[in-house]
Amino acid sequence: MTISTLGIIGSGQLGSLLCQAAKKLNIKTIVISDDENGPAQNYSGEFIYSQYDNKEKIKEFVSKVDIITYEFENIPINILNEIDKEKKILPKPEINKIIQNRKLEKTFVNDLGIKTTDWAFIKQAADVEKNKNLLPGILKSNTLGYDGHGQYILNSLDDVKKNWCFTADYILEKKVNLKKEISVVITRYLNGETYIYEPIENIHKDQILNHSKIPADINKEIFLKAQSYAKLISEKLDYVGTMCVEYFIDQDDNLLVNEIAPRVHNSGHLTINAFSISQFSGHVAAVCNLGVKKVEKISNAEMFNVLGKDIETYRSKTFSKNEFFYDYGKKSIKDKRKMGHLTVLKK
Ligand code: ADP
Ligand code: MG
Repeated sequence: MTISTLGIIGSGQLGSLLCQAAKKLNIKTIVISDDENGPAQNYSGEFIYSQYDNKEKIKEFVSKVDIITYEFENIPINILNEIDKEKKILPKPEINKIIQNRKLEKTFVNDLGIKTTDWAFIKQAADVEKNKNLLPGILKSNTLGYDGHGQYILNSLDDVKKNWCFTADYILEKKVNLKKEISVVITRYLNGETYIYEPIENIHKDQILNHSKIPADINKEIFLKAQSYAKLISEKLDYVGTMCVEYFIDQDDNLLVNEIAPRVHNSGHLTINAFSISQFSGHVAAVCNLGVKKVEKISNAEMFNVLGKDIETYRSKTFSKNEFFYDYGKKSIKDKRKMGHLTVLKK
């Protein structure tokens, strides 16, 4: 089947950038989102504002598209499964089910023989006590976390008593003394072919990505290992589209998987300018089965996220030829909210 219309669930900056990539590939986009002001509506062919459990609206969306993808992983799995009965969703809902649940995600990665941080599943305060060897650690909500939301630093058992009531399932992770964080973005096609971008070095501030750069300052062994783990993970998931694996490197040069994103990723924004085919174009091409795209690196690069009211300064700046500023056009400015990014191409 020739695909001409791509449905996208979610309307943030990732959705916007997917719409722009799709347009260049002559694919029409229809975005559905529960955010009335979602910026992707400025770039999509059509925008449907709806709650994700609104059966009528979902039906309308599904009837108008050839294939469906999503820009964020926290979509209720039963809704994805319902949609998938009518129209194919890529990446497959089963993948999303694993990745949106930190316990299933880490178990999946560990079962492949790949290291993660040491972790335990936590239902109640007593479980933290049982796993006090993981302190100082980070308690993370088992589902629905992003940009550090739902995360609590536990330095000692005292922090549990003081701060926390257990209202959901969590995992407790040992705090890693980080040397570095890197990520690998990979696009995998229906025929199993992949393009693996080089590892990207990521610098976080307050658990939010602050900036990313290539080349990552890592040795060859870690470079290759990070790429091969990403390939293995994508194969085991039978993944179609672009995904990202976030890694920690500890002081002893152990490479640990932090988490998997079953979608395009913030750290991959520099691929728009630094490669001939971006993570977004690759995703659209793979999901819409447009054939394997040949990717070439154009330049080294560094990408800076623009958070909160910093966007105002950027909006009035002038940029050089090697600087590419993206304003997500979000209606309201909120503290720590991702409002735009700047990519600087470098020698
Ligand atoms: P999110 O889903 O919010 O992206 P992550 O688990 O990726 O959550 O955590 C966000 C950031 O917080 C990481 O990129 C890292 O900088 C820091 N962090 C998270 N877990 C740990 C850990 N176990 N040890 C050290 N730093 C951590
Ligand atoms: Mg993360």
